[in-house]
Amino acid sequence: MPVLIDIARLATCPPDGGPDDIGEVEDAALVWRDGVIEWVGRRLDLPTRYADEPRQSAEGALVLPGLVDCHTHLCFAGDRADEFTERLRGTPYLEVAKRGGGILKTVRHTRAAREDELLALAQERLDRMIRRGVTTAEVKSGYGLSPEAELKQLRVYRQLAAETGVRLIPTVLAAHAVPPEFAGDRAAYLGVVCGEILPAVAREGLARFSDAFVESGAFTPDEARRVFEVSRQLGLTPKLHADQLSDTGGGALAADVGAISADHLEFVSERSIRAMAAAGTVAVSLPLATLVLDTPPLPAQALREAGVPVAVATDFNPGSAPVCDLPLAMWAACVRQRMTPAQVLRGATTVAARALGIQDEVGSLLPGYAADWIGVDRRSAEAWMYDFAPDAVTQTVVAGDAR
Ligand SMILES: [Zn+2]
Repeated sequence: MPVLIDIARLATCPPDGGPDDIGEVEDAALVWRDGVIEWVGRRLDLPTRYADEPRQSAEGALVLPGLVDCHTHLCFAGDRADEFTERLRGTPYLEVAKRGGGILKTVRHTRAAREDELLALAQERLDRMIRRGVTTAEVKSGYGLSPEAELKQLRVYRQLAAETGVRLIPTVLAAHAVPPEFAGDRAAYLGVVCGEILPAVAREGLARFSDAFVESGAFTPDEARRVFEVSRQLGLTPKLHADQLSDTGGGALAADVGAISADHLEFVSERSIRAMAAAGTVAVSLPLATLVLDTPPLPAQALREAGVPVAVATDFNPGSAPVCDLPLAMWAACVRQRMTPAQVLRGATTVAARALGIQDEVGSLLPGYAADWIGVDRRSAEAWMYDFAPDAVTQTVVAGDAR
């Protein structure tokens, strides 16, 4: 049972705290047994029953809960680096998509890749995320868009979780785009989603959540509602890509169908914010995508004032957010969404865990929680976000094991 000492400062990030409450403890100690935290507090108050337990030094680091990236599209093949340059030259996304680029380009590459190839690609990306402090990640399908290829992506996640021990929470996103073979018949594709893909995913226990992309050019609120009705019957909790490029009433739809979170929300309306507050829906902000697409930031202050908790995630994907760096997303949430360092730390730990329904298991450093923690070479969360350095995370620990 290790006792972690030499912690200059520790943040517990209590699940029931206010938006700026990160529960800081100076000169702290942390004790865990079998991967679960048993005691946390000031070192001076360490109970004598731990006197003979082995000591482990945090070497004066800032110790924080392991980060939770609650929105990623980790598994895909190919890249879209050429589109990055094209878009910087001013070519609109729709034009890029018409020439065979965009989501459907990634779908072509992902369908053509073997499961072991996808696994190797996802493994390398997950390693990068771990080095930046991520200990839990939500992982979506959505680049298969056929029963076979969606299941292939989700099986990669199951394999990856088994091999790495990192908590991966899978989400089926079959309603991400209409695949080319159904270009003229959206209803037929939705029939495949509801009649084949979702039931097969539920049967194999391959996902916990079901997501849909509601946007002009993607799916309508009515189409998503149908997907979610079927999802609910199959035991898959809804999540929603909502109000990213326009106000489609996505936030209100998420609240209405009992979604655990509504993600993006750059164009969320007042009415949707009120509905989300009443329903307890978590808002997931994805500030790297707003940087890449040069779109307005999510209105964090309006959401916070209405009582909607705001999480921060990467949206890691090959198009709008090809950077799997959650601390960078936290920094972007500070400067673009005017969130404080304490708010973004809660947003990437306990609030992110709430967006995945696991806020009683991870995201806080309290007794009974997983011993998932990171060491940061800074004196406080505020100092970390202030002079953001890519290598500030010096240690990532999952269930008591150093990674
Ligand atoms: Zn996304």
